Amino acid sequence: MDADQLRQYLEFYQDLGIKTVYKRNPPASETIRAAAPPPEAESEPLPAPPAAASNSESLLQIMQDIGDCRRCRLHEGRHKIVFGVGNERAPLVFVGEGPGADEDAQGIPFVGRAGQLLTQMIEGTAKKEGINLLREDVYICNVVKCRPPENRTPEPDEMEICGQFLYRQLVTIAPKAICVLGGTAAKAITGRKEGVTKMRGKWFKWRDVPVMVTYHPSFLLRAYNQEAKREAWEDLKKVLHFVYD
Ligand code: URA
Repeated sequence: MDADQLRQYLEFYQDLGIKTVYKRNPPASETIRAAAPPPEAESEPLPAPPAAASNSESLLQIMQDIGDCRRCRLHEGRHKIVFGVGNERAPLVFVGEGPGADEDAQGIPFVGRAGQLLTQMIEGTAKKEGINLLREDVYICNVVKCRPPENRTPEPDEMEICGQFLYRQLVTIAPKAICVLGGTAAKAITGRKEGVTKMRGKWFKWRDVPVMVTYHPSFLLRAYNQEAKREAWEDLKKVLHFVYD
């Protein structure tokens, strides 16, 4: 790999908010900063990024590139790859963390309890705000496309590997705004380290696209989170008015 290709790789990951790259089994002290290219002989090769992520490719092409993916360990336990669902030209994209059991069984993101809450939040808030919007009008996907075992948080290397496809999905859809659900997705998209409580309700940027961070619907399902629920509704109102007014 020549220096230009390597620079492209690293800029690509930085755009996605990823600041470090990892060997497959790195000793704790040996994470490699993206700014300092890994010595080739010692590290696993980075995945080839798309030759040119451009909005002239289709979601179908990206799905075909994913294929029967075995690029990371998450393929071992999955039933279905959960690519994404909704309107390819949606002005608003929701990004969650990774599929749960229901999503893994059906191959569709946000169809379990958290998904039903998300659907209610999108459609209910829009209706109250006088915006004519159904779930199928937006696009919904996750940072990782395969269910992590026991619903654990995806590992950084899993998010890096799968992140290239999220990147391409976002470039292809080219939404007016992105709504990020929960801390893990917020970190992956914005590259920031603050927790979701600090980030929610505020605008960030992914490339030139405004990003609103809010709570993950699974978090909102916990009974004691009434205040968080109210805040999530406020966040959603903000993003819906920004996109659809
Ligand atoms: N949680 C997520 O982050 N994504 C899903 O698709 C379902 C639950």
